[in-house]
Amino acid sequence: MKDIRHVYLDNNATTALAPEVLEAMLPFLKDNYGNPSSTYSFGSRVRASLEKSRSCIASSINALPEEIIFTSCGTEGDNTAIFSALKAYPDRRHIITTAVEHPAVLNVCRLMEGQGYEVTYLKVDSQGRLDMDVLAAALSDDTAIVSVMYANNETGVIFPIEEIGRMIEGRNVSGGKILFHTDAVQALGKVPVDVERFNLDMLSLSGHKLHAPKGIGALYVRKGTPFYPLLIGGHQENGRRSGTENTASIAGLAMACELAAKGLKEEAAYLGKLRDELETAILSTCPRSIVNGRDVQRLPNTSSVSFEHIDGEAILMFLDSNGIYAASGSACSSGSGAPSHVLEAMSVPASAIHGSVRFSLSRYNDRSDIERLIDVLPGVIKKLREISPLSTGPFSCAH
Ligand code: PLP
Repeated sequence: MKDIRHVYLDNNATTALAPEVLEAMLPFLKDNYGNPSSTYSFGSRVRASLEKSRSCIASSINALPEEIIFTSCGTEGDNTAIFSALKAYPDRRHIITTAVEHPAVLNVCRLMEGQGYEVTYLKVDSQGRLDMDVLAAALSDDTAIVSVMYANNETGVIFPIEEIGRMIEGRNVSGGKILFHTDAVQALGKVPVDVERFNLDMLSLSGHKLHAPKGIGALYVRKGTPFYPLLIGGHQENGRRSGTENTASIAGLAMACELAAKGLKEEAAYLGKLRDELETAILSTCPRSIVNGRDVQRLPNTSSVSFEHIDGEAILMFLDSNGIYAASGSACSSGSGAPSHVLEAMSVPASAIHGSVRFSLSRYNDRSDIERLIDVLPGVIKKLREISPLSTGPFSCAH
């Protein structure tokens, strides 16, 4: 079999470990394997490194070190934030979120709906934007938490977190403020994150989206915010998240945050340029393709493209056989065959929604990856259109 060059364009699913991150982790996987909770020096040395990592992660989002709780992933952070807020306000029965959240938020909300909570799922328009007036009208004395993602994993569309933070801050509710949580899993490392400026009470992040390993994340909880842990056990993380800390991955996450913060501006500019090149090339070589959310503020690395009248899974299969890897939506839902809930919420037409592909870039992509994609993709689209039972001819659906 001939060697094919691999082109990884699915960085919103997961990213390659940065070499610097691996370097930072190795000591904790080799010699420094002590338990940070042990009181002897072999453990306390690891504790000291762990606390340094905590400070580093905190400063990358303008938080205090004690406001960072290590978690196992973004999902755990999202779950913990919502369950904690509901416990903090047992008399309140209302949650506000959006229709386009990751399942780590949506499915918790659905679960709580089954337990008698009222959930407002804010709709988005065709570009993926929220209507802020609808959000303002939904806030009530019964609202325990507003959980709105910073950036969407499928389209990269960015929500106005700062504006939402101001709105919630200005809303007086007796018995304690409405808690504001954001899922910043896709945003961190790509756009500035500032918990103070955004008036956030809680924020979740995940290592494997920014070149740290899988299985590590963090939850920011503002000092003074009522908090109830999800995992109960030992005293780790000041009783806020029991379980022996993943010391190597924490060191990796800290290094990833440091790298991201240092190179944020340059990297965003680099990725944005590459992403624009990718979109221009696709739109000019693949007829009847549309870029979702193209007119609004988006992450610089993400491009959601719908190809009319073909099956996205078939596109991915052909790309895969050419060594090119992309996603049909969020990695978690791909394979289910159901259309993306995000694109459905954006009212992407039925003729295009099934032919949607997400391309997501990282610092390790370059122009040659785009060139390779464009060598292959137009031919794949043409071939699939020719054989597609969905396609009824080149002029069937112009818009
Ligand atoms: N939130 C968003 C927006 C995501 O994209 C993801 C992962 O795809 C998650 C949460 C879940 O993160 P993790 O895989 O670390 O549980």
